[in-house]
Amino acid sequence: MSRIAYVNGRYLPFGQACVHVEDRGYQFADGVYEVIAVQGGRTVDEDLHLDRLGYSLAELSMSWPMSRGALKVVLRELLRRNRIAARGIVYLQVTRGVAPRNHAFPVAVQPSLVLTARPLPAIDESAVRRGVTVVTVPDIRWKRADIKSVSLLPNVLGKQAAVSAGAYEAWMVDEAGRITEGTASNAWIVTAGGELLTRQADHAILNGITRRMVWAIAAEHGIRPVERPFTVAEASAAAEAFLTSTTSLVRPVVRIDDATIADGRIGPLTEKLLRWYLGHMYGLPVSPTGDPMAPATT
Ligand code: PMP
Repeated sequence: MSRIAYVNGRYLPFGQACVHVEDRGYQFADGVYEVIAVQGGRTVDEDLHLDRLGYSLAELSMSWPMSRGALKVVLRELLRRNRIAARGIVYLQVTRGVAPRNHAFPVAVQPSLVLTARPLPAIDESAVRRGVTVVTVPDIRWKRADIKSVSLLPNVLGKQAAVSAGAYEAWMVDEAGRITEGTASNAWIVTAGGELLTRQADHAILNGITRRMVWAIAAEHGIRPVERPFTVAEASAAAEAFLTSTTSLVRPVVRIDDATIADGRIGPLTEKLLRWYLGHMYGLPVSPTGDPMAPATT
């Protein structure tokens, strides 16, 4: 089936979906984006993603390309046209628009809006549970990683370093030797003392929607995560480690560089958080006793 993209007011077959060579996203990475999961044909945490989009736009003095309500209509129409009735992913990008190349903001230019979507196979829970390995790389990004900007070159280089090393993700390390986050995910550990740790969401990291949901779900179950930076040494000696993102879900980390985390298998708290998060994605209620409900298999 041919895929359909939305580009500035039009639904187009992929082969014809193009932006102008002077789009500021293309020339300056002057744009922001969101990635939203679709589960059971419905978007997951759509409003939180649109809130974050609004934050990214505001931080860069960019305007919404259309009203939030209209954007939701486009999103749904794109899912329909791409026949995403089960699991999938939506990519949404806004740039400052098309203007003759000049660093300063153009005047009275309409932002560009592109959306793409694609179906994904059902979540393979046993593959998720098996976990992944990560390598560490220096965090060479600018100082506003909280803005979900399309300027992703350091993230691209970090992810490629991971792939070249046979790993799934790279965790970036600041100048003080502390892990900030992954190239496309947030980093978490459980200490030997049972503390659930993730770095505070300041300007140094993107405050992941999955991070926020996992936080909220943990709190609902009486688990209070602690927000503070942790070092590579602390992570390597952790009882459990995992990463979170829209596409990776809650993913156990079983090795960091050369250090195997605990016994190299998903840890008990990670297991619970994964189950609860899957329940949230599948739209299942979470048991008030804190016991994860069995996720649906479809
Ligand atoms: N950090 C970075 C740098 C990311 O690119 C992403 C994924 N876009 C995340 C964290 C996780 O964010 P989310 O849970 O909203 O997908």
